[in-house]
Formats: sequence, C-alpha cells, structure tokens
Amino acid sequence: MQALPIFLNIAHRPCVVIGGGEVALRKVSSLLKADAAVKLYAPEICPQLQVLVDEGKIQFKALAFEENQLEKACLVIAATDDETVNVAVSQAAKARNIPVNVVDSPALCTFTFASIVDRSPIIVAVSSEGNAPVLARYTRTKIETMLPANYGRIAAIAGEFREEVKTQFATTQARRIFWEEVLQSPIVEQILAGHEDAARQMLAQRLADQAHNKQHHGEVYLVGGGPGDPDLLTFRALRLMQQCDVCVYDKLVSPEVMALVRRDAELIYVGKSRDQHTLPQEEINQLLARLALEGKRVLRLKGGDPFIFGRGGEEIETLMQQNVPFQVVPGITAANGVSSYAGIPLTHRDYAQACLFITGHLKDGSLDLDWVAMSRPNQTVVIYMGLVGLAQICEQLIAHGVSPDMPAAVVQQGTTQRQKVVSATLQDLAQKVADAQIKAPCLTIIGEVVKLREKLNWFTPSEPIE
Ligand code: SAH
Repeated sequence: MQALPIFLNIAHRPCVVIGGGEVALRKVSSLLKADAAVKLYAPEICPQLQVLVDEGKIQFKALAFEENQLEKACLVIAATDDETVNVAVSQAAKARNIPVNVVDSPALCTFTFASIVDRSPIIVAVSSEGNAPVLARYTRTKIETMLPANYGRIAAIAGEFREEVKTQFATTQARRIFWEEVLQSPIVEQILAGHEDAARQMLAQRLADQAHNKQHHGEVYLVGGGPGDPDLLTFRALRLMQQCDVCVYDKLVSPEVMALVRRDAELIYVGKSRDQHTLPQEEINQLLARLALEGKRVLRLKGGDPFIFGRGGEEIETLMQQNVPFQVVPGITAANGVSSYAGIPLTHRDYAQACLFITGHLKDGSLDLDWVAMSRPNQTVVIYMGLVGLAQICEQLIAHGVSPDMPAAVVQQGTTQRQKVVSATLQDLAQKVADAQIKAPCLTIIGEVVKLREKLNWFTPSEPIE
C-alpha cells in the first residue's frame, strides 16, 4: 500500500481550488458534498461555477494563482490546464504541508481522489494508487451492485441506537456480538424494504430482551479452510471467519486463507508439523472448550476438511462432553481440490471406479498399511502425509502386484499459486520427488487416471517454485 486511505472531515473548513473549468467544477462538487468552505481562484470561470458563486455556495476571486491564496487552506486542488501553474500550486502547497491534488498528474499530488460508492453514512472508496483508474471504477461498479440503495439507512438507524447499546453492554465484545446478531437478523430486510419504523421497534425489542440476558455464550466453529486457494472456501466458512473473536489455526491453513480471518480476532497458532506437535491434541481440545466457555466465538480453522485426517471428530467430542455449542463447516479436502487443480480426475469410467483416501503417517510412525486393498485394479489411491514413507509405499505396492509403470504424481501445495507437480511412474516416483526437492504439504495420487493430466492440465500457478 503506497497511500493511506483516510476519511477527512472538511466540513466548513477552507479548501482552495485553483482553476475555473469543468474539471474544477467536478472537484468543487465533490468538496461541496462534504460541506467544505470552497475558495475558488481563476482568471475566469465556467457558467456552472458561476451559478454556484451566485447561489453563495462557494467564494470566488477572479485572480491568477498566487501563493498567498493557500493561507489557512486545509486542502488544495489544482485543476488548470496550465502545467506551469499546476506545478507552482503543487510546490507551494507541499512547502506549506497542505495536502494537494493536481488533476491527472499523480507526481504532483500528495493525495488522490478515490472512486466512491456513496451509501451515506456508509462510504466505500476505491483506489488503484494511480495505476489503473478504469479498474478502480470497474471495482466500484461491482460494489455498487452489491450494496442495495438503502444500505446506508442500516448504518443510520444503527447510529440512532449506538448510545443506548453502549449503556446496555459494558464491553466492546458484548456490543460487537449484539450488532453482529442484529445485522444477521430480519431487521436488516425491514430497513432495506423501507419499513424503518418496524425495524426500529424490532431493534428496541431486541435490545430490551438482550439487556435481561447479558451473559453471552461462546461457541466453536470447526471450519474447513480448504486446500489453500481462498476462493474454495464456503460462504459459511467465510462468514464465520469474519465474526470470530479468536482463531485457533494450524500450519496447513494457507496465508491467503488466514488473510480473510477477522482482523481484530486473536490468533492462536497450534501448528503441527510432522513429528513436532506444537500443542498436544488433548490440549487443543481443552483450549477450544475453555475459550468458548469464556464467552468467545472460537474459530477452529483447519486445512482441507476437518473430518478428513483432521482430528475434527476428537475436538467436537470434547466440546460435547463439556456442553459447548459448536458448528462444523466442511471444507474441500486436499484430495478433492489438489487433484482438480492438477488436472487429475480421481475417477474416470475407463480407468477407476473407486478411490481410496489413505494416510501415510500412522500414529506410531510405522507404515502398516493395507497393501492388498491399495493394490487392487481400477481404483485411484490418494495418500495424505505420505512424503516420508513414499519410497516404501511405492516398493510395497509393486511387491503386491501393481505395475511398476503405474502412473503416479505428487502435488506440493496444490491449488495455491505455489503448486508444484511431479508426474512419474510408481518405480521412479520417489527418486523424481527427491530430485525436485518436494516438501510438505504434498499429496500422492496413484492410478491410471494420473496420465489424464497430460491432456487435462488446466491450472498454471503464477509463482511456481521451480
Ligand atoms: N484435513 C486435511 C488433511 C490434513 S492431513 C484435508 O482435508 O485436506 C495433512 C495432509 O493433507 C498433508 O500432509 C498433505 O498430504 C495434505 N494436504 C493438505 N493440503 C494440501 C495441499 N494444498 N497440497 C497438497 N497436499 C495437501
């Protein structure tokens, strides 16, 4: 971020505009929307500006630019078509530390205008930091379509109740929970439909009800964060991620997904890497229960799906024992997401009628897998956490009758922009993976379907780690 987005209160404060054409008119109109006291200097002005002068909405002096016109200004805008004047205004303003905008000359500006979605008092400002104004406008249009016309009324009505809510709820956390519940309630629909009095009544009622029952109970959200690409999150996952008070997460959750967790949430890392358990599972289970019993909304964010090699079952067992409310939100499991992004359909009617999900890492570190089941024909085998035992897995499958030429692939950090795929056959997979210096997390896929990747590979990561 190269510029700090802020909202400046310029009501009744002097803002100077140099220039009298249509561009100046646009800027003057923006300033007037924010109730600025506009002072305009130009040798002559266009008829629409003259109307504003005649109506007493702005002050105007028919003068060429002089530095002393900037005295006491809180903002300066240069909107002339004379480059020398624009440069002079910019220099004079910079020398006085007054924020200055020179229209269409980013180099001369110390601030720029944003593309605005106005649902006052909700304002969305979009900037491309001067790189792509058209993209900024396009983004604004997208946001325009997302926010109903009455959207700002929600904020306005919430504003009416703000003080009362503050009196009723002592902590910011209690207030936030109250407002979040309001925003997910039918009150919002009432406001959007224009039934503001009904909405006010419902809000007052809810406030009265809650005031009697101030004890907020916490909850645990056991959420699958998917394999890495944040676009693969479910809507429910995203909503809960944005309303949690604390997030308990581990190593597998990608940075891109973590970036979508509510900014103010406390983050607790309980990451596990192979053989190195930062926090024993039992302590994680107890931690989740304890945080929820303190009244917090606890996001337990896990890679992939919480119920697939994720120990989610153990976590909610503890919550159930302690009567802690919870919800489980499934995520796209690695086998699913990673195989898609590697262009490998896990089943295909010509090659595989079944698919096995196997963990290559057993509790005691041994590799005592069901080799017979894994060696059957017409199926695909997907191995989670199988990197360390990879050579042994391949040898055992060959020993149990699988062809050494069986196609196989290992995918590192699948679905992310760092995805890396090694395709091989069962007999040379381990060597190729070692040569490519593949690291966890990675998933192994074994079966005839792997050869379809040659045809179906559609995803090109932008930062391959070659
Ligand atoms: N609950 C998770 C799996 C946890 S076990 C899920 O449903 O996906 C951890 C293993 O998942 C890793 O060792 C790796 O084998 C696999 N894995 C998870 N995300 C992955 C990714 N983006 N790319 C490759 N493998 C991944």
